[in-house]
Amino acid sequence: MFDNAEYGRALDEFLINMESVTDERSDAIALALGPICNVLGIGRVGVCFYENTIQERESEVKETLLYETEVYNDACIYTQREDTMDTCIAVYSVNGTCENHGWDEVILSKIKVLLKILYSFHGRIRTMRIASEMLYKDHELEVYNLNYFVKVANYLIDKKEIGKYCACRFNLKGFSSVNDRVGRRNGTLAMKKFVKGLQLNIEDDDIICRVGGDNFIMLFNKTRLDDVKLYLAGQDVYLIEEDENVYISASTGFYMIDEDCDNATDIMDSISMAAKVAKNSAETAYTAFFDSQLLEQSKKNRYIEEIFVDAMANEEFKVFYQPKVDLKDYLMVGAEALCRWFHDGKIVSPGDFIPVLERSQAICQLDFYMLDHVCKDIRRWIDTGKQAVKVSVNLSRKHLGNSRILEDILDIIDRNNVPHEYIEIELTETTMDLHFDILKQLVTGLRNNGISTSVDDFGTGYSSLNLLREAPWSVLKIDRSYLPDGKNYDEKRMAMLKHLIALSADMGFECIVEGVETVEQLKLIKRNNCFLAQGFYFDKPLAVEEFETRLMYIET
Ligand code: C2E
Ligand code: MG
Ligand code: MG
Repeated sequence: MFDNAEYGRALDEFLINMESVTDERSDAIALALGPICNVLGIGRVGVCFYENTIQERESEVKETLLYETEVYNDACIYTQREDTMDTCIAVYSVNGTCENHGWDEVILSKIKVLLKILYSFHGRIRTMRIASEMLYKDHELEVYNLNYFVKVANYLIDKKEIGKYCACRFNLKGFSSVNDRVGRRNGTLAMKKFVKGLQLNIEDDDIICRVGGDNFIMLFNKTRLDDVKLYLAGQDVYLIEEDENVYISASTGFYMIDEDCDNATDIMDSISMAAKVAKNSAETAYTAFFDSQLLEQSKKNRYIEEIFVDAMANEEFKVFYQPKVDLKDYLMVGAEALCRWFHDGKIVSPGDFIPVLERSQAICQLDFYMLDHVCKDIRRWIDTGKQAVKVSVNLSRKHLGNSRILEDILDIIDRNNVPHEYIEIELTETTMDLHFDILKQLVTGLRNNGISTSVDDFGTGYSSLNLLREAPWSVLKIDRSYLPDGKNYDEKRMAMLKHLIALSADMGFECIVEGVETVEQLKLIKRNNCFLAQGFYFDKPLAVEEFETRLMYIET
């Protein structure tokens, strides 16, 4: 006689135990099924999962065993198919215990309910798995992503095991030319094979994660360091379809994680810094390790980022003005606004904080702050009858991501009621096509509003004649590296300086040479027909009070 009360208790127990199941093949399912199967005379439960009806029809799928007693009745079998569109198809098969030769209607209906409940758990587990795969996997390469890296790193930190691991960040060298040569699809295939090969050099639990494009990060056992280094130094990857080998190598920043490391952000920062160094380290085979020097630097960077907002609010940043001089009459014709940070009783120079602020959008705030302060100074000079001069303000390339940059600049200038001819915007060159278009638009927009623009540090970055031709620049600022240093005579540099000045004149730009320090340099640029200069020979960047003494009063 079937015991309903016993069934009720077993069912409750089953439901409670299933709540803690997180894996569809888990032993916990077998344990949860035990009591209820006992009541219902079930000796074995298995299930086949199919992704869709085509797979169900056409391919054999390995059965997943959920519960099995030592002996069960092969002849007493019940199967049930469950299908909801949003999860998967599951076909359950249930055998009776060895002494059970068939179920009556009442018990069978309870088995049907049991399998429905099982299916709902499987559906939930599966949905959770798909969601976590979406959260943690890079689907193009079938590797993990950054989220997973952070999750695993945090787990190892919690378990106090992080000290056994090395982390690294690598970038595939020249991969865009691989894509150009074999096509994007094959490029991705080659990348996938390269990463698969790398996986063979680390432990099963170690992880490789893609952070985007051809950038990856890894977390692996320190004992595997030599293998990883050797592999990343370069490998031939064979592409079957193309019947050709693609050579792939990486530049890599490593961090042998300290055992007292207590957050994943530090690990990310460390490998990112080391990776940056590695990129320019041909002599160490494009590898670099995070060390105490980089650690010091990263602490400083973090500190700057943390206090930046307060420093702005406290007006710790000051505008310094470096005069620009007309070499025909040696009169000051303008100035460049350069930022100085007064912090903790010291003056911090831009080289120490601008690159840090450029890691985020903070630099944009600082640039606008500088422009605003420059405008206020100019307005004051005009209002107090001083002979105001045009001031050039540096704008980071980071602004090129802002589609309203032109409006923002005009807004600051107009808010301060400064005539446009007093402002010049200095921009540097860019390699990115997207930025190229925005840069062109910005320079044109400024020109249409009567604001001049200059190409800063011309000849250092990736000089593009296209950029000069396509945007209506006003001024070329030739970088000081083109000036002879007085020690070594560099004929090529001198020839380039001469041609850059001539090019600038031919294209109708004003030309100024930066960083003039000696009378010899001054004579040289004059000989080459450049009559504007800026540099220590005349003045260092000056505090506003000192600079103002140079501005003459207009006779009224
Ligand atoms: P830059 O725009 O090319 O500025 C010229 C740099 O050369 C200034 O360095 C200036 O002090 C220095 N300099 C001028 N004359 C001489 C000289 O005769 N000899 C030598 N050795 N150096 C000379 P500074 O002020 O340290 O600024 C460095 C860079 O930081 C600037 O290069 C600019 O790119 C950036 N910067 C400065 N202020 C700002 C700012 O407000 N916003 C942005 N985005 N960048 C800024
Ligand atoms: Mg500049
Ligand atoms: Mg410059």
